Amino acid sequence: MEAFTEFIIVYEHTQSKFEAFISSITDQKLLDEWSKEYLDDKWMQPQVEEWIDEYFDDETDDIGRRLNSDLIKIVRHIAQDDLHSKPPYHSFEEREIYDLDKIAHELINFSTPQLYKYVNQEFLKPGTLWETFYKTPNRLLTAVQLVINKIITNGDSSKAPTSTSEPTPQPPREPTEEEKEQVKNRDGYACLCCGVNTEGKLEIDHIKPFSMGGKTFVENLQTLCVICNRRKGRNEIDFRQNKTKLSIPKTDLSIPKNLESFTLESEKAIRTLTRIVNLFYHCKAVYKVDWEVYTYTYNIYLYPNNKPEWLLQHKTELLKFVQERLGRQAYNIEVTTKK
Ligand SMILES: [Zn+2]
Repeated sequence: MEAFTEFIIVYEHTQSKFEAFISSITDQKLLDEWSKEYLDDKWMQPQVEEWIDEYFDDETDDIGRRLNSDLIKIVRHIAQDDLHSKPPYHSFEEREIYDLDKIAHELINFSTPQLYKYVNQEFLKPGTLWETFYKTPNRLLTAVQLVINKIITNGDSSKAPTSTSEPTPQPPREPTEEEKEQVKNRDGYACLCCGVNTEGKLEIDHIKPFSMGGKTFVENLQTLCVICNRRKGRNEIDFRQNKTKLSIPKTDLSIPKNLESFTLESEKAIRTLTRIVNLFYHCKAVYKVDWEVYTYTYNIYLYPNNKPEWLLQHKTELLKFVQERLGRQAYNIEVTTKK
């Protein structure tokens, strides 16, 4: 599981409500359930709605329609934290100290090594929140440099709103028609996972799911067919990558799980196999799948750096699946890496 920092905006009138809600999250069974890596939206929503009913006022507190996902983030944070610690609260006054615009103005004439030294010192000062906001000194350095560049190119930015005085509005979940068209065009009007290219079946997917903080912009979007998109679920998978990022296969989207949840689609076995294998590797690992007429063998060719052994462990199950569920004549499945 990858860790990341998220921020939730708390207003004066919602602060005590959030506090009450957070203190109520103590039930061990609830914490166990909410700590699971994969949770279905359908499973979470009824529970979230109950919390909103109990602790918040739908009309005044659901600012920017974020309350739902904010509560999910909070509960997941508490549940997944080893000590079930509560998320820390930082006031805006406190955040003033971390106003990059102010800092950038002070450092505008620094050389890069001087900047580097300054940022590292600041970052390591005990009791500061730099690490919470930026994770690494390098990220802070990049952020400071960006603001300095902005000041240099735009002249004085004192009139511009600072990054901390106003909350940035949440970008919309749904991409614009223009963005959708741009993504489909880039992806060749086909599902990046299985290759389906029927216009009516194509959807635009967030590579990093929106509900996990993924943003709606072209770089985080990809073209998937309805089936692949549904199966990808809340996993972060970039099907433009040919090399898996996993160090071991995940149980979610594993071969047994995928075969089990399979619903018969009227499509070629090769497409079904491509989809199952790509989901299994969490990337577009399949270079091609073909069927050898003389030996009744399905050959699966993987892009380099995806271990064939992962898949070969499930060879028997896969073969049985092709024979029984897909109804194909097959004696063997071979997995090799593309040369
Ligand atoms: Zn697909």
